Amino acid sequence: MNIHEYQAKEILKRFDVPVPCGRLALSVEEAVAAAADLSGQVWVVKAQIHAGGRGKAGGVRLCRSVEEVREAADGLLGSTLVTHQTGASGKRVNRLYVEQGVSIAREYYLSLLVDRESESVSFVVSPAGGMAIEEVALASPEKILTCPIDGSAGLTADDCATMIAMLGLGEAAAAAFPALAASLYRAFCESDCSLLELNPLIETTDGALIALDAKMAIDDNALYRHADFSAMRDLDEEDPREIEASAHGLNYIALDGRIGCMVNGAGLAMATMDIIQLKGDRPANFLDVGGGVTVHAVCEAFKLLFSDQQVKAVLVNIFGGIVRCDIIAQGLLEAIRTHPMQVPVVMRLVGTNEEQGRRLIHEAGLDVRWAADLDQAAELAVAAAKGI
Ligand code: ADP
Ligand code: MG
Repeated sequence: MNIHEYQAKEILKRFDVPVPCGRLALSVEEAVAAAADLSGQVWVVKAQIHAGGRGKAGGVRLCRSVEEVREAADGLLGSTLVTHQTGASGKRVNRLYVEQGVSIAREYYLSLLVDRESESVSFVVSPAGGMAIEEVALASPEKILTCPIDGSAGLTADDCATMIAMLGLGEAAAAAFPALAASLYRAFCESDCSLLELNPLIETTDGALIALDAKMAIDDNALYRHADFSAMRDLDEEDPREIEASAHGLNYIALDGRIGCMVNGAGLAMATMDIIQLKGDRPANFLDVGGGVTVHAVCEAFKLLFSDQQVKAVLVNIFGGIVRCDIIAQGLLEAIRTHPMQVPVVMRLVGTNEEQGRRLIHEAGLDVRWAADLDQAAELAVAAAKGI
C-alpha cells in the first residue's frame, strides 16, 4: 500500500525523523488557514498524489505570502497533474500539504528498501539528490551507494561512516547523520515498509538534516499489524478495477494489454502472462482466482474482465487441483446473465471436475474456443484479440 507524503511524514515524526512543519488542506480556505497557522514568511504548497516528479510538473509551489498560498491552492486543487510517474492521463489533485519553506543548502537522495540481492534491508544513498534518481543511475552510477544492513547487527557506526563519506556531508550534518539513519531504519522495520524514500533529504544552511520529501510503501501482508495505517489508504489513488477485485478477495492487478486473463495460482498466472507476450500480445491484467474460490467470486472476476473496455479477448487458464472446473463454469454462466460475452473467450480447462465444467458450458450453448494446452490457448487468445 502506498501512502501520501504527508502521511509518511506523520509516521516519520513518530520516530523522531526531522520533517518540516506542515498541515493537510482539502480546500483553498484550509490551505490559507494552514499557512496562517504555520509561522514564517515562506510556504510550500504541495499536491498530494501517489507519484513523484511533482516539482517539475508544477505540483510543488513556493509561496512568499498568504495570498500566493491562496492562488497556488486554487490552481492545484481539482487540477490534473501529469508527471513522469503518473502516465499520460495524470492524477487529480484532491489534497494539498502546506509546509513551511526550508532554506536548502544541499539536496541528497536516501532510501531504504528490501534488497533481494543482499537478502537484507539496504540503504541507498547519493549526493545527487532532488532529481530523478533513475537518471542518476543511468548517467553516473558511481554516485549511488547501496549499503546493506546486517539484520542481526543492525545499523552500525561503520555503515554510517560509509554513507557519510559517500554523501560528502559537512561537519554538523555528519554529526546528525547516525541518529537520523537509526530513526529511519527503525521507522522502516517497525512500520513494515517495502520502500522508504527521501528525495530529497536536505541539509539546511545551518547544517541540519531534514526529510523534505517522503515516499513510503507498506507491505500489504503486514497491514493487519497496523490498524492506524488502514485509515491512510486513499481509494482515489487506486485503480477502480483493483478495488472491486480486492472486495471479492481476488488477486488482481490491472495492466495495459488487451487479453484478459483468468488463472488459478500466481505462478501459472505469471506463466500465462509470459506466454501471451511470447505469442506477440499483452495481458490486460494479472488475475489469480486462488484455490478455494467460490462461484460468486469467479462470477465477479468474469464481470471485471467483461466490463473492461481494454479487453479484446479473454483467456481462461485453469489447471484444477483444489479449484474445481465446474465452479469456474458456473461462475461464467452466472456472470453472463448480466454481462453477456462480447469478446471471444478461450478456455483451457483441465483437472478436477473437468468434464462437468465443459458439460455446463456446452449445455448453455456458449461459444467458447477450447484449447488443449496453454500453448494453444495463448495462440488462440492472441488470434482472437486480432479478430481472427
Ligand atoms: P517531487 O519529488 O514530487 O518533485 P518534492 O517534495 O521532492 O516533490 O519537492 C520538489 C522540490 O521542491 C524539492 O526538491 C525541493 O527543492 C522543493 N521543496 C519541497 N518541499 C520544500 C520545502 N518545504 N521547502 C523548500 N523547498 C521545498
Ligand atoms: Mg521528491
